[in-house]
Amino acid sequence: MRLVLFGGTFDPIHRGHLAIASAAADAFGLDTVLFAPAGRQPLKLEGTPTPFSDRMAMVELACRSDVRFSASALDAPHEDGSANYTVDTIAALIRERPGDQIFMLAGADSFLDLPRWREPERLLRLAEWIVVSRPGFSLDEFKGLPLPAGRVHRLESVHEDVSATELREKLERGEDCSALVPGAVLEYVLSRGLYRGAGSGSEVH
Ligand code: ATP
Repeated sequence: MRLVLFGGTFDPIHRGHLAIASAAADAFGLDTVLFAPAGRQPLKLEGTPTPFSDRMAMVELACRSDVRFSASALDAPHEDGSANYTVDTIAALIRERPGDQIFMLAGADSFLDLPRWREPERLLRLAEWIVVSRPGFSLDEFKGLPLPAGRVHRLESVHEDVSATELREKLERGEDCSALVPGAVLEYVLSRGLYRGAGSGSEVH
């Protein structure tokens, strides 16, 4: 099986995430895209994310749109509150699925940040990467690390100018976001009162 690990905060999951997942699955003949919301993202410690259970529930709802999409709790919060590192997650996934070919999926902005991640060289060795275009970020600006030949695949066909930050701001202002998130996710957000005001729906893990 050809499988890609797609990590992120997914706070909330939006059209950009789904677009890069389906573009990657189409272009690389992937059987499964594993969406794995991060319990505690070490590079995004400035804000308190929406509880993992809500982010996971929204990912599960969004994954219903494509049979290749699947929600994964592989990156669930650790009991001791420590950060989730992608290098540990991918290593665990590889151990669990020895017969599968496993890729990593990231948007251009995340990949440009790779030198700041834990053990970036090992991350590049452990899996082939699919890096998808994101408006405002150019992979030509990547620096700080030699990229191993043939292990980082660029997919430049996605041009979705949407971010979770912008989405949270719109939701907080009560703006219509139906074009930016799947209907079931929007219903979940509204029914749970997420993103309504500073601090609402948040908890410390
Ligand atoms: P935030 O605005 O809160 O930082 P985000 O929209 O960047 O959130 P994340 O959950 O942090 O969403 O992203 C998870 C992954 O999806 C990352 O690899 C990111 O690069 C990628 N991604 C998110 N939005 C897009 C987009 N519009 N186009 C391409 N890649 C994207």
